[in-house]
Amino acid sequence: MTIREIEAKSILRKHKKIDSWFISYYGMNLYRGCAHNCVYCDGRAEGYYVDGEFGRDVTVKVNAIELLRRELDPKRKRVPFKRSFIMIGGGVGDSYQPVEKRYELTRKALELMHEYNLPVHMLTKSTLIKRDIDILKEINKQSKAIVSFSFSSVDDGISAIFEPGVPPPRERLKTISLFKNEGISCGMFLLPVIPFLTDTAELVEESIGKAKEVGVDFVIFGGMTLKEGRQKDYFCDALKKTHPELIAEYQNIYRGSEWGEATREYYNSISQRFNSIAKKYRIPKRMPPALYRDILERNDLVVVILEHIDYLLKLEGKPSSFGYAAYSISQLKEPLSTMKGSLQKIKGVNRIIEPVILEILATGTSSYHEELLMR
Ligand code: SF4
Repeated sequence: MTIREIEAKSILRKHKKIDSWFISYYGMNLYRGCAHNCVYCDGRAEGYYVDGEFGRDVTVKVNAIELLRRELDPKRKRVPFKRSFIMIGGGVGDSYQPVEKRYELTRKALELMHEYNLPVHMLTKSTLIKRDIDILKEINKQSKAIVSFSFSSVDDGISAIFEPGVPPPRERLKTISLFKNEGISCGMFLLPVIPFLTDTAELVEESIGKAKEVGVDFVIFGGMTLKEGRQKDYFCDALKKTHPELIAEYQNIYRGSEWGEATREYYNSISQRFNSIAKKYRIPKRMPPALYRDILERNDLVVVILEHIDYLLKLEGKPSSFGYAAYSISQLKEPLSTMKGSLQKIKGVNRIIEPVILEILATGTSSYHEELLMR
């Protein structure tokens, strides 16, 4: 592995609207590149501008903590911080990849979150996160911590081929048990499932069954993208060596779309598969509001719940305008609580959506959303 140290210009990335997958306005990458070297990683794609050879070379933002302290300091901020989880993980480098043992940037970032009383949502594939259980417990007591793990499935053999640098799924599952026993909410990101290998009904069921056994609070599911260029070439070269019989199937579903998506028919079929298995195991398919309703401002809570309803309806193959209404609300400057008599003036809000919003404003949740999450 080659390590390159750089001085970054900024660390915190702010989204224009709340991200309803992670319930977050802010994210950060402390490292660029990832020695976990997952064969399907989209960090390899040209658009992410990761320097060097992906999987071997890692860039460390050595001034990250100093910058973060400045960016988090409320005295220096002209615009107040938006209430939401700070997302640590995802992007183009796992925050708990091996280099973290030496630099401890993730640990130091968590110490800052604790100092500034900010809730965090972690996403990793590494069990190194166990090292930080003490500080995560403190954050959880103070403001809330969620620990999520990503899996392409719970099959150790497939993981060894496609995720060569990470602990096997059984170790990740044990780590979830450990955090759950400490009272910390945990999620499974069953994402990306690898076409024709980990997206089968049997393996999706086994993954959700094991997630349920260790007590995860939600499972978020998603298919794989393969962007033309480095990412697709690298993946297909590996596939030719291990599963050459699948190449034709891949050519059939990945036809060179701009963002590397597979065909809509493929995504629909695996989403329906996921939906029926999640229903059988009664596992929430998005983060349940109980985990965040006391953290978000009411407008953001409404946006998140409406976006979830939109996703859940579409998962069932039903049309929905909840997503459009959510977007319009995300652009509002005024609090919804001052608009209770005129909600239908907001674009996309109709007589079906209005009572859902009123219920969220009154109770912090929506019975329709809760029912869709589990059904
Ligand atoms: S752990 Fe995540 S960022 Fe790292 S190589 Fe795997 S998919 Fe990419």
